[in-house]
Amino acid sequence: MNNSGYLRFIPAVKSPEESSGDLWFVFRGGSLLTIGGDSDRRIPRRSEMQSLLELLTDKIYLGTLDGKGCLAAELNGSAGLTPGFEAIDLRKLLDSLDETTFLAAGRAAQLLAWRRNTRYCGRCGKLTEEKQDERARICTACGLSFFPRLSPAVIVAVVRDRSILLARGKNSTLPFWSVLAGFVEPGESLEQCVRREVFEEVRLAVKNIRYFASQPWPFPDSFMIAFTAEYESGDIHIDNMELEAAAWYTVQSLPQVPRKGSVSRRLIDWFANTYG
Ligand SMILES: [Zn+2]
Repeated sequence: MNNSGYLRFIPAVKSPEESSGDLWFVFRGGSLLTIGGDSDRRIPRRSEMQSLLELLTDKIYLGTLDGKGCLAAELNGSAGLTPGFEAIDLRKLLDSLDETTFLAAGRAAQLLAWRRNTRYCGRCGKLTEEKQDERARICTACGLSFFPRLSPAVIVAVVRDRSILLARGKNSTLPFWSVLAGFVEPGESLEQCVRREVFEEVRLAVKNIRYFASQPWPFPDSFMIAFTAEYESGDIHIDNMELEAAAWYTVQSLPQVPRKGSVSRRLIDWFANTYG
């Protein structure tokens, strides 16, 4: 079977010759360089990057998006950007780039961070170097390999009768309520993690845990695995270290929820569509 659009993004390690149509995912800090305005924002092509090429470091070939080569790089220095360019916090691009392009941008951000954080071997402290045939770095002295790391986290919509459990994080500066989430610990299954997180945060037991969807969350290297679950027993007692509040909400009484594009919002939209 040829690809013909089946996979829009195809990862690759070895870079072919650069071409003027290549897409450049360039980061300054956590912000991605984009071109255009709010209605037509997009990733710049190589031919549009001429004025910045000398300031780019840490170039990484990512693969192809719709047949166009994709590269990641960091922009150094605080020089002003050429008119037309704008560096935007990656989170704010969740609902303005199409999903595949956003995921490619997240891949770029994570691989740049991975390279920054694995320049030296964590076991012996010597320099590492890029492997030529796979996405890995290898220690020049002891041979230990470093692959890009993901930190899996579960996120769960708990439903009781026709209500959903929503909570506000203790230190959250964000104005919205969301479903519970937490990182998977070594030695536990995703289902065990769902049960533990819900119990730790609100002292409820849940049942009928079902897979819902997943989403890479490159802030900095999370991978969200979303579930739905039904309330089984208990009364809400929040963990005061983690949460400021938690409560049941019907579709008619939903508070402010996360913006579109996040899997947490998709869970809440699923609840609203199912129980509205
Ligand atoms: Zn080493």
